[in-house]
Amino acid sequence: MTQTDAPVDAESPRVTPALLRWAESMCGRRLAGVHHDRRGNRPSDARFRVANRVFDSARLAHTDIAVPTLGAFRAVTGLEPEEQRVYEAAGRWYVTLFGDRAVRAVDLDDWESPVAELGVRLVGPAGLPVEDADGRRELRLLRVGARRPVAGDPLESIEARFALERVAGWAGGASLRLCVADLVQGALIEREVDVNRVLDAEVRPWLAERVAVIRARVADPTPQPGLECAHCRYVAGCAAHA
Ligand code: SF4
Repeated sequence: MTQTDAPVDAESPRVTPALLRWAESMCGRRLAGVHHDRRGNRPSDARFRVANRVFDSARLAHTDIAVPTLGAFRAVTGLEPEEQRVYEAAGRWYVTLFGDRAVRAVDLDDWESPVAELGVRLVGPAGLPVEDADGRRELRLLRVGARRPVAGDPLESIEARFALERVAGWAGGASLRLCVADLVQGALIEREVDVNRVLDAEVRPWLAERVAVIRARVADPTPQPGLECAHCRYVAGCAAHA
């Protein structure tokens, strides 16, 4: 990785899965706002409401070492009827895909990780880390309603690479089963990875390249109005909407 001199703290620029994915095409002003953690209007979490409920239920299904059961995916409050049906279907797929594995969820208890070599914070979900009674580790990325199909190598997933770097402190030095599951389509891909080797050989060089792209875009924060304005927390004060 490229070395930087600045220590990483709560004020350091942040990198999210969305920035990594959309660095080339995202509006420059919005990208700069996210990267520098500028305050903006709080975005709605409606798009992630079902996925968040599914994740919480899956995590609670593994409070102790146990296989997941449908009882963990009971009716929840705050969902529209259509969302409730998606939630229940996702729960059924979770039990189908992971029902033979007794594991305990590992609480990493944070939402961000510093990457000192790049002078940034990784801010965003780290998947669902779990381990079985023998200490074997697994990292589960649970998709609900994703447009991209689950196929091929789990490490092709930006979210999986991001999550693997985020859990490096827990998983480093061991092997881990990396899983990406689509809980709407009922698809699962998985791969055993030597965490340190994959981080050094694949994830960190890729991350350094993507951060370089983000920094190059931040240098020209010109507004680029388009469809993403509908989800932008930086509309206030944007010259494109003056
Ligand atoms: S409102 Fe639109 S043009 Fe303005 S910063 Fe947000 S995405 Fe860019």
